[in-house]
Amino acid sequence: MGYKNVCINCKRVESLGTDHDNFRTGNYPECSNEMIFVNHKFRPPKKTDAKAWKVVSFLIINGFEFQPITDDSGCYIKYPESMKEAESFVTKYREKIKR
Ligand SMILES: [Zn+2]
Repeated sequence: MGYKNVCINCKRVESLGTDHDNFRTGNYPECSNEMIFVNHKFRPPKKTDAKAWKVVSFLIINGFEFQPITDDSGCYIKYPESMKEAESFVTKYREKIKR
């Protein structure tokens, strides 16, 4: 299991691997935006795909950091790719990510 850092403003994605000693946290020196820790399963959209990045930002802001979530029968739930799906996804699965 590895992790990635993402800046949703610059659409920058960094792979952190699994070595916790190398994890960077805080803000990016380049843009001073916050680094957001996401699951390694996160597949960043193309930088030019503004629509897809809007969905990604929306999910992250709502606490979905691409951690695996399962439904009541234990099946993995696929992350949404459109804004419309993302809105119902967030409402439906909010309870699942509460810590
Ligand atoms: Zn940035």
